[in-house]
Amino acid sequence: MTAGVFSYSAVLMGSPILLKLFDDNPTLARQVFQLIKQQENLFTVNRAESEVMSINQAAGHHPVVVSEPVFALISVAHAVSLLPESAFNFTIGPVVKRWKIGFQGRAVPPANEIAALLKLTDPHQVVLNSADCSVFLQQPGMEIDLGAIAKGYIADRVQAFLRQQGVQQALINLGGNVQTLGSPPHEPQGWGIGLKKPFGRDDELLGVLQVQGKSVVTSGIYERYFELDGRCWHHIFDPQTGYPLDNELLSVTVISDRSIDGDIYTTLLYGMGVEQGLAYLADQPDIDAVFVTRDRQIICSSPRHFQFQQRDFA
Ligand code: AMP
Ligand code: MG
Repeated sequence: MTAGVFSYSAVLMGSPILLKLFDDNPTLARQVFQLIKQQENLFTVNRAESEVMSINQAAGHHPVVVSEPVFALISVAHAVSLLPESAFNFTIGPVVKRWKIGFQGRAVPPANEIAALLKLTDPHQVVLNSADCSVFLQQPGMEIDLGAIAKGYIADRVQAFLRQQGVQQALINLGGNVQTLGSPPHEPQGWGIGLKKPFGRDDELLGVLQVQGKSVVTSGIYERYFELDGRCWHHIFDPQTGYPLDNELLSVTVISDRSIDGDIYTTLLYGMGVEQGLAYLADQPDIDAVFVTRDRQIICSSPRHFQFQQRDFA
């Protein structure tokens, strides 16, 4: 147990948020939660109004001018979506909305509906104009969804804010996206970050990752899903089919400097699967990953930026 840790919590973006500091500073904690709320208000597609919703509502009609940070994040999401064979597609919105997974969705949509919606998920049909920070979705019905990337971006914003405030040791957990500053006092090994057991209770861990000043992001099919006909229908979609990605994986955890990279790579690696993912990571010296498979294996890429103490996977 770390001495002198002060934990602050809130529920934002539909997730429990946890901030750990080593000074009792509720004012700073309030500012952090305020920053998160303000950022969420820009990016959310779960409410009627946000900058992203303005773009979606104007789909097929006209470009919408957005603020620079929103334009910058959309530009990143666009570029990642255009990578060859990318499992990441930020125009997946119509498919996500139709399945409603995590929002009372309990049925598999008819195949013809999914096929029709897939036609509205072409990232080539997004026109970005950096001269005026405008975004135009060319077809009516197209919808941007930044759910796979926004938390990572916001976690980095929190880290930068804390640094500006002179904080050197802290942790922010945005419901699965962890970003850290330094290491806890007297713990040179770094922060211990639990890797959750898929479909287990919150306190059931597969192991603990030890990191210093790194981000740890997990995407797992057990985060939001429903079960039907012996299958787990979860919230990470295959942009080629419009159905949840169906491979050997239960979760992917990425260890990186920036949480936005962690958020992007969890989706990309999820799509690649273990074999291709490990081969890909061999050429990415700044990114590490831990894959958890359906047949209960825990596979670490060559761990350059973390240590892992495994527990039982019973
Ligand atoms: P994450 O928790 O970072 O894995 O993001 C999951 C969220 O990303 C989902 O709830 C959707 O909003 C969105 N999403 C689902 N599938 C994809 C995909 N293939 N590409 C981009 N975003 C996706
Ligand atoms: Mg993600």
